[in-house]
Amino acid sequence: MWDKIFYNATIATCAETAERPTALAIADQKIVWLGDVKDFDQPPERLAHEVMNVQGKLLTPGLIDCHTHLVYAGNRAHEFALKLQGVSYQEIARLGGGIQATVKMTQAASFDELYEQSAGRLEAALKNGSTTIEIKSGYGLTKAGELKQLAVIEALAKNFPGIIYPTYLAAHCLPVEYQHDSEAYINLICQEILPEVAKKQLARAVDAFCESIAFNVQQIERVFKTAKQYGLDLKLHAEQFSLSDGAALASAFKALSADHLEYINESGIAAMANAGTVAVLLPGAFYFLQEKQMPPIDLLRRYHVPIALATDCNPGTSPTTSLPLMMNMAATQWRLTPLETLRGVTINAAKALGLSKTLGSLEINKQADLLIWPIFSVEELSYYMGSVKPEVIYIKGKKI
Ligand SMILES: [Zn+2]
Repeated sequence: MWDKIFYNATIATCAETAERPTALAIADQKIVWLGDVKDFDQPPERLAHEVMNVQGKLLTPGLIDCHTHLVYAGNRAHEFALKLQGVSYQEIARLGGGIQATVKMTQAASFDELYEQSAGRLEAALKNGSTTIEIKSGYGLTKAGELKQLAVIEALAKNFPGIIYPTYLAAHCLPVEYQHDSEAYINLICQEILPEVAKKQLARAVDAFCESIAFNVQQIERVFKTAKQYGLDLKLHAEQFSLSDGAALASAFKALSADHLEYINESGIAAMANAGTVAVLLPGAFYFLQEKQMPPIDLLRRYHVPIALATDCNPGTSPTTSLPLMMNMAATQWRLTPLETLRGVTINAAKALGLSKTLGSLEINKQADLLIWPIFSVEELSYYMGSVKPEVIYIKGKKI
């Protein structure tokens, strides 16, 4: 006997096949059958403990948010209000705002405060359909600060019903005390923090920010080489505000993903295609910062680079936990098709985390993470501007 059969559903499998099943069975936390109830030689009630008529509603894989900075303290709403009045970035930084403000608040927060604030956002993300969530550190900056942030991520992972994928965002921004010696900070990362993170198994991947205002290619190369020695996967914030050759660097190291990519050029895209590196695009940050330079969607399509979408959930440039909203923003701002937006938050997001063998599509033997939506087509999902939420959530075959 199977655990459950869902039938009479509009199923978006997000798999490569052209098949359009209308029914699906799960058992032992996995998907065990896909097809149509007409294929059965006996009533479905005899085949499974539970049977659910989905009444034509949309059934999709659980959504995967493959790029977030969800663990942080405080918010930057006041800074947002100042920006609206025309106050410049430099002036905001001078007033103690910007990323350093979040670093300060996150460093000052106790473990419990940081956990509580982050757990609220995680719950909101789950209600929006995210069943797997990547979370980066990067607001601690000191050894103790980064380890605290990663320990909060570890604690959240224990209590979250889905999968939390922890990333050590090593070179995010230069701490004030290293302002004139960035090399010393890279030494601290490579010689002290990274070995400890690896020893305590606090991260599955290492990330960095490659940009003129952050770290250069040579510095990140050192971080990546060290991360590789510890067997960690790699990700990179690249080409967000300028062409800094981060995508080429990520590809040379066979990174899982290069993220942002507004300013990537054709040779960077070709390198990503060769390396199998996923393009993670972040429409929320693009929207919030009112960017004008679009990521080159057509070139990414032409080179068959998988396009993933994520919230980039963070207090400075993308304060959101809603992947359906990101789907809408990618469609309206960049003309991604509705199916591209759905694949962006399912199978391609799974690839961006190296988890596509078990997650990201509805296929036999994959983990039974699935959502039933109060709508009847894939088109509706990116149409409702983030207001549609799943009404049924299954994670590892269990109803949440
Ligand atoms: Zn980010």
